[in-house]
Formats: sequence, structure tokens, C-alpha cells
Amino acid sequence: MKLIIFGPPGSGKGTYASILEKKLGIPKINTGDIFREIIKRKSNLSKKIASYVLSGKLVPDEITIQVLKKRLAKKDCKNGFILDGYPRTIQQAEALEKISSPDLIINLVVPQNVIIARLSGRLICPNCNAIYHKIFLKPKNNEICDKCGSKLIQREDDKPEVIKERFSVYQKQSKPLIDYYKKKKPFGNVKCNKVDIPPEVVVERILKKIKELGF
Ligand code: ADP
Ligand code: ZN
Repeated sequence: MKLIIFGPPGSGKGTYASILEKKLGIPKINTGDIFREIIKRKSNLSKKIASYVLSGKLVPDEITIQVLKKRLAKKDCKNGFILDGYPRTIQQAEALEKISSPDLIINLVVPQNVIIARLSGRLICPNCNAIYHKIFLKPKNNEICDKCGSKLIQREDDKPEVIKERFSVYQKQSKPLIDYYKKKKPFGNVKCNKVDIPPEVVVERILKKIKELGF
């Protein structure tokens, strides 16, 4: 199955996609994680990418499409994949049709107060990219990754000014993808209206919707 999990920044895409990855046995691919890895490795490209990510802007389509294409060519994607954070522009969606056409789209419907609460308390593992929240998804030991033991950090772009910019970029550049896909593919909305809904509950809703869509 080739699945897109779509939603605004802070909608929980990454958290749900990580659980779905295990349940469905197909890899989760997050372009944000790939960009953060490139930034860590310090090169000319990494400087360019960092300037976009840290200001909350989209990395240009030419770069993003190349990065995604390379990732989807890997062997682990041969039985499908879960895209989380790609596509974010119509041009990226059109490029994806040529690389590997997705089967269905799940759109996370999340009110803005939930998004702000999620992003401002989010912690991530700089080593394995696991996602936590200071209040709603706490690690077992204070600010230490359950999976690999690294010290958790706040993402540089989870600061209030940058959050605002990311949200406005979503409204302008990414939201039009909802209408684009509604016309083209099996499409399902999944509601996530409270900040403290356990991730497993939302994942069950997503799985139910996938079945309703015939997959
Ligand atoms: P979120 O969904 O919470 O914004 P991500 O980790 O998916 O977080 O993305 C972080 C940043 O990486 C984005 O703000 C953007 O700068 C960059 N990025 C990720 N995916 C894409 C994409 N498909 N196109 C352009 N830029 C992207
Ligand atoms: Zn970790």
C-alpha cells in the first residue's frame, strides 16, 4: 500500500505514521527527518536546506523531489510506503505521480489550539527521530529517549515565531492539496479534536478509514 498521511504541522502525522509503520510493515518516509539528517552532516547542500527549515519555509521543490525520489528507490519501499510530510505542494504531488503513484490519502483534521499545544511541547530524539511531548506523550525517564537513551531536544523550528510561519506556509502552499487529491484518489478525513487523545486511538481511526476506502 502506498499511503499519504496529510495534515498541518503538528497534526501528529509523524507520531501516527511511526505506529502505522509497524502495524502495516511498510516504511514511514518523512522528508523533514531526511532534511534534518542532511543538515547534521554539514555540506553546501545542508546549509541551503537549513536556511529554509529553520525559518519555517518549504525547501525548494527541485531539492525535495530529488531527495524523495532517491529514498523511494530503496528496496524497503518495494511493497509500499507511508509518506509523512510529502507532498506539500501541487508540484511535489505531480512529481510523485511520475515516481510512484500513491493509492490513498488520509487527511488529519485538527483544530488550531491542538496544533499549538502539540508543537510547543514537542520533544524529539536527535539520534533516532522518535517523537515525544512534555505533557501528552512523556518519555519514561525525564527527557531521555525510550528507544535509544539519547537526551531529547526541542526542534529549532518549534519556536513560536517559526510555528506561525510554518502554519501560514501550510495554508498557502499545502492545503490546496486536499482538493487536488479529493478529486483524484481515495481520500478519507480522520478527526483528532483533542490534544490528549492517545495516539493508538487515532491510529485505530486511521486503520478503520483505510478499510472503508477498500484497502
Ligand atoms: P512538520 O510537519 O511538523 O512541519 P516536518 O519534520 O515534516 O515537520 O518538516 C520540517 C521542515 O522540513 C518543514 O518546515 C520544511 O522546512 C521542511 N520540509 C519537510 N518536508 C518538506 C517538503 N515535502 N517540501 C518542502 N519542505 C519540506
Ligand atoms: Zn532515540
